[in-house]
Amino acid sequence: MFLQQAVLASRNKTVMPITDHSHAVSASRTNGTGQTEKNAIAQRVIVLLDRIGRLTRELQFADGLNPAQWEALRFLAQANKYSRSPTALADYLGATKGTVSQTLIALESKGLITRCKKTEDRRQVDLCLTEAGQAMLGKDPMQTLEHAAGEVAHELGAEMVKGLSRLLHDLQTRNQINEFGVCQDCSLFCVNSQAALAALEVPPVNGTCGNTGETIDAAEKTKICVNYKTTN
Ligand code: SF4
Repeated sequence: MFLQQAVLASRNKTVMPITDHSHAVSASRTNGTGQTEKNAIAQRVIVLLDRIGRLTRELQFADGLNPAQWEALRFLAQANKYSRSPTALADYLGATKGTVSQTLIALESKGLITRCKKTEDRRQVDLCLTEAGQAMLGKDPMQTLEHAAGEVAHELGAEMVKGLSRLLHDLQTRNQINEFGVCQDCSLFCVNSQAALAALEVPPVNGTCGNTGETIDAAEKTKICVNYKTTN
């Protein structure tokens, strides 16, 4: 109900009433066997996820942007140095390069992103948020969902995150979709010991990327990466 009201408020126009019929699925399938109950719960989860997905998509037609443009802004704010490219963005969104190109052109024309040269290789280009892009993220309509999720997370906490993460991981694996993740959870991340740091006389860093051999500082360590490899 909270999200539905938010959708109505955010778009200021009439939308179809949204009713959760998922309880009907479980009611019609319960015959006392464990397997049937399991199937019914699975179907209910699918229906609920689908409803939430549709609502969050509706929410993101805001401030002159569409859901793909909002997601691109969010991605660029969180992506690490290997991932701020059109290819990585296409991978993350599960979109074609052509679609992503249109999204980037729209964001550039609105002054929300720019192309800047990589510091380590001036021939390569990074996609970067402009100040206006950073400011736009302050109005991110997904914050509404964050408030709603915060209430639920308070009750369910880690179990909810664990369950949803497992479901996402399973879907990505089955469909051979790149996972994306942060260094601290990546199987390629090597933590430097203090002794090794002292011996090498290098400035303190949090670790090394096993994929590129480059050092990863504290700021990069918590950003999402296109080359991420799960530890499972
Ligand atoms: S350690 Fe993993 S997540 Fe971090 S930069 Fe390397 S490949 Fe990406």
